[in-house]
Amino acid sequence: MSNLPNCPQCDSEYTYEMGEILACPECAHEWSEQDSNRNDEKVFKDANGTILQDGDTVTVIKDLKVKGSSLVVKVGTKVKNIRLKDGDHDIDCKIDGIGQMSLKTQFVKKV
Ligand SMILES: [Zn+2]
Repeated sequence: MSNLPNCPQCDSEYTYEMGEILACPECAHEWSEQDSNRNDEKVFKDANGTILQDGDTVTVIKDLKVKGSSLVVKVGTKVKNIRLKDGDHDIDCKIDGIGQMSLKTQFVKKV
């Protein structure tokens, strides 16, 4: 079972793996899949699989306790102007009444 991408040069589907790199038997092109992945920007998706972008407005779909405090971000809380980042909590945002905090993309949905 192989799930290799087509050759980026001639679009052949007969690509094969050669150690760390991928090779095409038809045009002899060789490339690294990791290189192409690294160049791709990470895609952030909300609970519904909708793609999120910096500046989006989302709502929280689950009560979330704020670490180190007794505050809770309630279901339905609207969060404006999110910033996406790499990490376990991949949204940086500011919530009215709570302040700066980080959320996980799987606990929000795009408005
Ligand atoms: Zn090729």
